[in-house]
Amino acid sequence: MKKILNPAYLMLLVISFGCAQKQNNTPVKVVKSEAEWKSELSEESYRILRKAETERAFTGKYDKHFEEGVYRCAGCNQELFMSENKYDSKCGWPAFDNAVKGSLKFDVDYKIGIPRTEVLCSNCGGHLGHVFNDGPKETTGLRHCINSAALEFEPSKNE
Ligand code: FE
Repeated sequence: MKKILNPAYLMLLVISFGCAQKQNNTPVKVVKSEAEWKSELSEESYRILRKAETERAFTGKYDKHFEEGVYRCAGCNQELFMSENKYDSKCGWPAFDNAVKGSLKFDVDYKIGIPRTEVLCSNCGGHLGHVFNDGPKETTGLRHCINSAALEFEPSKNE
């Protein structure tokens, strides 16, 4: 009984449940060969979008970027996040409390030993980052922690 009440164990259960809830196996629309992705993307964007790597914290071009506009997928140009959903989480990567409806897919990632919810572009399947439950409580409570190199920013035309 003691083992079951261990907070770390409970947290794991909650995360696993959350991941299972969000998993989406809908096939992506944009399908390209690795050679095509490699030739079209920058080295950094390829590493992240197609190889699920992570840019170094506090180095991405959109970490401290707070202009008005839309963040699109650097792989396929799909709209992913609006600037009004971006906030300064101080985690070292761009953080968003919400995404454009239907723009994301989710998967479970065990890379660091514990399950995390991986965030992917629903249109091309590119790896974007992860989503955590420590976002702003006054809105969604979610922190979509996204690599800058997976994004392309388009400024709002009204500026
Ligand atoms: Fe995409």
